[in-house]
Amino acid sequence: MLSARAARLKESATLKVFGAAKRMIAEGVDVINLSMGEPDYNTPEHIKQAAIQAIKANHTHYTVNRGILPLREAVAKRLKEDFNADYTPEQILVSSGAKQSLFNTIMALVDEGDEVLLPYPAWPTHPEAIGLAGGKVVALRTREKDDFKINARQLAAAITPKTKMILFSNPINPTGMVYSEDELTALVDVLKKHNIFILADEIYARMCYDGFKFRSLATFPEIKERVILVQGVSKAYAMTGWRIGFSCGPQAVIKAADKIQGHSTSNASSIAQYAALAAVSGPQDSLDEMLATYTKRRKYIMERFSAMPDISFAVPRGAFYLFPNVSAYFNEQYPDSTALAMYLLEKAHVAVVPGVGFGQEGYLRLSYAASMEQLAAACDRIEKALKELKG
Ligand code: PLP
Repeated sequence: MLSARAARLKESATLKVFGAAKRMIAEGVDVINLSMGEPDYNTPEHIKQAAIQAIKANHTHYTVNRGILPLREAVAKRLKEDFNADYTPEQILVSSGAKQSLFNTIMALVDEGDEVLLPYPAWPTHPEAIGLAGGKVVALRTREKDDFKINARQLAAAITPKTKMILFSNPINPTGMVYSEDELTALVDVLKKHNIFILADEIYARMCYDGFKFRSLATFPEIKERVILVQGVSKAYAMTGWRIGFSCGPQAVIKAADKIQGHSTSNASSIAQYAALAAVSGPQDSLDEMLATYTKRRKYIMERFSAMPDISFAVPRGAFYLFPNVSAYFNEQYPDSTALAMYLLEKAHVAVVPGVGFGQEGYLRLSYAASMEQLAAACDRIEKALKELKG
């Protein structure tokens, strides 16, 4: 009955645990949810006010499919200011979340049978979106001891005449790793020799810690013509529910993505576009406050997990995730990350995501976008439950 396309789709691992956690919460169980990839903040007040004003001013009609010009201008300005990336408003498409930006771009570029390189562990939507377009995911495996990063040699060896694109995420969900400028330069040295597109998912670009200097792939002139940069307001401005993302790239690609969007959803919500305009063009101090808080939480969760026996992790430099290796706790009854995540949910009432959902068995993903009290309680509960497991 279902199309082969739909039948191939995997359920999101994030949503699976979240679903089980929600059922428990509905039954009155006190579950601490560290499974979701969203800020625990509310959208800043001035952004909410801009949306209210937009409704009052009757900005409630269709907008141009690409997104209102003031927003595309403001995005271009912000990209210049924050990352020194050069884009004109004509090179920007506003969509309903970064997810749609990725989807439009993949649909615009990937044909049946095209190979798309994808570093692993990967955010689950990345391989599924490639698969929906008929593309073949070529997994670039990484290891904890290499900070879950690919290297130039590995990249060069994976490129074939069928390679159409690499989907490159930085900072990375689920590991929190961020590529340094030197590491990116080495990869760009390979990419510049091959005529492949580079879809750069940099949704967490403004969330880096320890003074880490983030460099956008969109700032390497050698490859700029083949880079499609994806960003959005979801994470940086606590606007996950508003659904606004951007793709920025060569006009021909953006034009094709624009057409695809035009025949699927049309413009992103007019009201959310005005809210996003206030977010990117208004004061940026709420982001600084959020980052200061994430910095403290990150330090805390790393300290707690460092103190737990037989657990290791690569130190995350961005986003808001910890990706600890918990394989030492696997046993006959709980032989993998899914079983262990379910154990922690049922026993400790803490929801985390099994690493296998990101294609990396042996690990769990915890989001530290939660209050200090919740994090402290979650760490206590996890520590106790794991101890009991070892007997
Ligand atoms: N890209 C990555 C790596 C993500 O983790 C997420 C959300 O979790 C997105 C894109 C989607 O962002 P949006 O909410 O803007 O669709």
